[in-house]
Amino acid sequence: MSILIKNSKIVTQNEERKILEGDLYIEDDLIVEIGKVNVEAEFVLKNKIIMPGLINTHTHLPMTLMRGYGDDLPLEEWLTTKIWPIERKLNEKMIKAGTRLAFIEMISTGTTCCADMYFFEDTIAEVALEMGMRCFAGFSIIDFDTPEMKSEMLLPECEKFIKKWKKNEMVKPVVAPHSTYSCSPETLQKSSELAKRYDVLLHTHCSETRNEVYTVLKKYKSRPLEQLKKNGMLTEKTILAHCGWITKGEVMEIAKSGACVSHNPVSNMKLATGGYTPLPELFNAGAVVTLGTDGAASNNKLDMFETMKFAALIHKHHRWDASIVNAQQTLDMATVNAGKFFGVNASIEEGKKADVICLEIEPNLIPIHNIVSHIVYSASGFNVSDVIINGKMIMRGREFIYVDKNKIMEEAEKAKEELLSK
Ligand SMILES: [Zn+2]
Repeated sequence: MSILIKNSKIVTQNEERKILEGDLYIEDDLIVEIGKVNVEAEFVLKNKIIMPGLINTHTHLPMTLMRGYGDDLPLEEWLTTKIWPIERKLNEKMIKAGTRLAFIEMISTGTTCCADMYFFEDTIAEVALEMGMRCFAGFSIIDFDTPEMKSEMLLPECEKFIKKWKKNEMVKPVVAPHSTYSCSPETLQKSSELAKRYDVLLHTHCSETRNEVYTVLKKYKSRPLEQLKKNGMLTEKTILAHCGWITKGEVMEIAKSGACVSHNPVSNMKLATGGYTPLPELFNAGAVVTLGTDGAASNNKLDMFETMKFAALIHKHHRWDASIVNAQQTLDMATVNAGKFFGVNASIEEGKKADVICLEIEPNLIPIHNIVSHIVYSASGFNVSDVIINGKMIMRGREFIYVDKNKIMEEAEKAKEELLSK
């Protein structure tokens, strides 16, 4: 496939964070040329803002089926009376419907790569492949039975899952022990050993709420991060979702370990978790900081443009300092910081993999003083007009090329009916 995007503004996110004007040419899976390009191409676009695709580092894809189900409840009540009872009824067909819905929402709002964590992860991985999404598929490990299998089957099945997906280019297997409050030390250790044995990433929740910190402290005499560290889970290959209730000492521990923090401001605010992931301190310590939406049940969107804006605003407001977490740092979290951690290209440079999105220049992006500012503070996912993943045009002019968006929406609506009727 060949794609030529003419006469555009290019937010490269290269080392110097250069913004260029000109054309971009993509052939097969690579960005071949940037500048003045005169070639024939299968797809020709023009007058866009071109930028790297966004990377969502923490989500639970099929939870789109629970979007808007049980809003405005305290977190514990939300989980115990709404989410957990309905999750028990999930089956493979519903997982497919929810995951497809998540992917069309993500792609149409500019996300080209995500890190998921859920049950039926093999089904989720198959859907990612079918939709052309880059996905770090986290096989959930937890100390109770899941809707898919008995608890004792999780680790052996996860190993099979790793073997099946290890060599895939677009979908990478991840070991995802849920958290320190839902996994015993033994489960955490076995998970970390498994990840180490196959050299794959780990993904877990860490210090999302104050209650979690107190519960884990009471039970194990360690705060969640310490508990992870003691059980081999604090590594340069670990994604730590949330980190809303961490201390300054823990900031240093995280930075030292090379683990990746996934900051999920919208979900945290909606569930009123109260903690503020200490971004300025994490930045100063040199930690890897990235952004996630969390599942659509607690966000309720998977729009990374919205998440970028909240990520910048929440900390300015909290610290009474408009200069912290600036637009460039925010865009970096959603692109290059995550890209570097995952080993996925998140810049627009010749010779690199083409995970590229185009924004339509609508009134909300005019006049152009500063494009990076517009991307973070003014744009929304609905400015995204075209999405290219691994050099493949997945969405053009907001139309999906390979999948039937209306059918996916209908199937998701049907899956919701089935979930509620059981
Ligand atoms: Zn989560």
